Formats: sequence, structure tokens, C-alpha cells
Amino acid sequence: MSFQQFGLHADLLKALQQYGYHQPTPIQQEALPLALSGRDLIGCAQTGTGKTAAFALPILNKLHPKSSGKTRALILTPTRELAAQITEVIHALAKHTKLYAASIFGGVGMPPQERALRLGTDIIIATPGRLIDLLNRGIGTFHGVEIFVLDEADRMLDMGFLPEVKRIIARLPKERQTMMFSATMPKEILGLTHQILRDPVTVQIGRQAAPVEGVKQSAFPVPQRLKIDLLVELLRKQEMKSVLIFARTKIRTERLARHLAKNGFEATRLHGDRTQGQRMAALEGFRNREYRILVATDIAARGIDVEGISHVVNFDVPMAPEDYVHRIGRTARAQALGEALTLVSPEEENFLYAIQRLTKIEIPRQQMAGFDYRKPAETREAREASHERPRRASQSRGFAKRRESFSPANGKRKGRGRPKPQWQH
Ligand code: AMP
Repeated sequence: MSFQQFGLHADLLKALQQYGYHQPTPIQQEALPLALSGRDLIGCAQTGTGKTAAFALPILNKLHPKSSGKTRALILTPTRELAAQITEVIHALAKHTKLYAASIFGGVGMPPQERALRLGTDIIIATPGRLIDLLNRGIGTFHGVEIFVLDEADRMLDMGFLPEVKRIIARLPKERQTMMFSATMPKEILGLTHQILRDPVTVQIGRQAAPVEGVKQSAFPVPQRLKIDLLVELLRKQEMKSVLIFARTKIRTERLARHLAKNGFEATRLHGDRTQGQRMAALEGFRNREYRILVATDIAARGIDVEGISHVVNFDVPMAPEDYVHRIGRTARAQALGEALTLVSPEEENFLYAIQRLTKIEIPRQQMAGFDYRKPAETREAREASHERPRRASQSRGFAKRRESFSPANGKRKGRGRPKPQWQH
């Protein structure tokens, strides 16, 4: 099966070939004919399935051949990294067209983004916070939008973005094509589908919340105080080429990355307290193998596409089981193989059970041979980096994420009285 069958413009077929997309992925196979015919669409797909091209190609095909001087497609996505990544794919696929795409997100200068909106750039890829700031200042209009994409809708909800998303949608023409993508369907998102989509078709690839095939999973029970020592042993003894490590909080992420770097590992870090420049540099350094290890909060769990991640390590067990699926989806992308290791302290056992219940997979438990599970933690830093009592499940994960997204270093929108985010999918 090839991309030829969809009747895409020859300029897009040429770009696809050059970009190395020779065959459509399952979601592309299902979604493209529907989206190209103009239908509204709900895409429920696992991470790493190729959904970006599933919405980018219909947009480009519709807008081709020329730029019209007004924004005709709008894509909303929750994080800056995702916005940058989608823009990159669109630029590559639009290579032989005269269409322009620009991204709009916080943490970087406003003037180029203002210009992009004022000039009516054909395709805008935006995070809701910065876009609404600009729209509120009277910059940009969306009267000409023909296609609207809401990406990672459930994540938008988690991050408390839903009010902004709704305000932006209110500025779009009623007559338009809408595509919505969401890995899960909490009731708020289901409600939104009734409001913003017209007679949509649903494209579901794979079982909802099924972990990515090709990921070998294992759990390492370990006392909280020894987590970092065990991690260091694992990193030394197992062959791990490119490792993405998830920690629960920004502080734990920062401390852990510093501790690893101090112990001779090439480690960098990604979390919401870093500037946009630092976040981009960390991701880029990890992508180009300057760093073998990236320590991150869940900011990196969704959608971030780095080729060839061999291992995902959950230094902390995620409290929301869906996050586990997103995290381990960072490895084994596009049919590659990968491994996911989860360090589980006794206090976190319940979270692991919840993951097993959701995924219907029993994660095999392992012990690291030769590791002394009874010793005290080796150094004060190790104790500090490992030790933090996990918050009670009643303390909202959504709140932690929201804090991360709106902390002053990250976007200066603390205390704006957003509605309490839902964190239960
Ligand atoms: P996405 O879900 O859009 O982030 O895509 C996941 C990964 O699959 C990315 O590395 C894409 O570049 C890659 N990909 C998407 N579509 C194709 C395709 N048709 N052929 C090969 N790789 C693809």
C-alpha cells in the first residue's frame, strides 16, 4: 500500500518520498481517505502512530497550491515541543508547495509570532496560552480558517487549557472541517466532541491505552532511598544506548540529572522550570546523541519524537496509569524495539497495580544481580535525589502538571484562577 492511492497532489507525494515516508501507517491508512473527503474526524490512537501526517497531509492537500494571505488552517497542541515538532513535519511535507506554516508558543519572543498572525500565515500551529494572549491583544483573525485540528485533547484538559481552547474555537468560522486527536476520552472531551465536531467518524487504532508493541517491560522493586544507586548500577551494567528517564517532579528531575552528570554520565534534563531555549537545547542534544541520557518530567511523555530511544526508565512510577503508556511509548517508535524499566518503591506498588490493571499486562519483576538491597544510601546527594515521599493519590497529578506548565519561569501565568483540572481520565 502506498500514498499514491489517496489522490494526494504530486508535490506532496514527492515530499513524502524525500522525507522517507513510503507507506502509510495504519492510522494514516484509515484517516487519510476520510479527512481528504472533508469529514470531521476523531482520532484515538496510541502515541507514535503517525498521526501528525494523518492531519498534516489533508491540510496541505486542501490548501495547495498557493498561499492566500489568510490563515486557513489552525492546529492547537498542548506543549511547545509538540508545536515545534508538528511545524517541522509540515515544513518538510510542504517543501514543494508555496504554503507557509508558523508556530506560536510561549517562552520565546513575540514579534515574529505577531508578524506571522498579522500576515495571515497559511497554517498556524499553536499552544493555547500564547495564542489567546495574542488574540486578546487584537492580533490575528481566524475568519478564514477552513481546517481546525485539536491535538492531544485529553492532555489539554489535564493541563487546564480547556477554557482557552474553547475561547479560541469560538473565534473560528462554524463552517469548517475539524479533526480531534485524543489518546483517551474522558467525559469532558466527549462533551467537547459534541460541541465542536459535525457528524464525526472515529478512527481507533489499537486498543485504547495499550502499551506500544515491541517494548519489553520490567519492574525493579527497590527501597526509595536506594533508587538512585540502583539506577546508576543499571546504567553502568546494562547496555543502554539512549535513555529517557522520567521523574515525578521538577526538583527530582533536576537533582537526578545533576547527580548523574556528576557521576560521569552524559545527562541533560527537560522540565518546566527551564527556559524554552534550555528545553530546546536539551532535546536537541539528546536527539543528536550529545547526551546519552535525558531526565524529564511528564512534559516529555507525550508525543515527543526522538528516534532510537533504546530505554525508558521510570525513576518514579507515574500515579496516573495512562502516563505510563505515554512514557513507554517514547521508545519502540515506528516499529523499533525498546525496553521500559520501572523502579518501584514499596510506597508505589499501588500505582504499579493500577498500570497492570489498565494495560492488562503483568509486568515481570526483576532483581539486579549483585546489588545490595539492604545497604544504606551511598551519598547524601543520592539520598536527596532518591528520597521524596510520593504524594498521596488524592493530591492531584493534574495540579502538579499545571504548576509545571504555568510556573513563572515557564510562562508567568500563575494564579489566574483556572478551573481545577481533571486528572482522572
Ligand atoms: P507521530 O505519531 O506523527 O509523531 O509519528 C511517529 C513516528 O513515526 C515519527 O518518527 C514519524 O516521523 C514516523 N512516521 C510517521 N508516519 C510515517 C510513515 N508513513 N512512514 C515512516 N515513518 C513514519
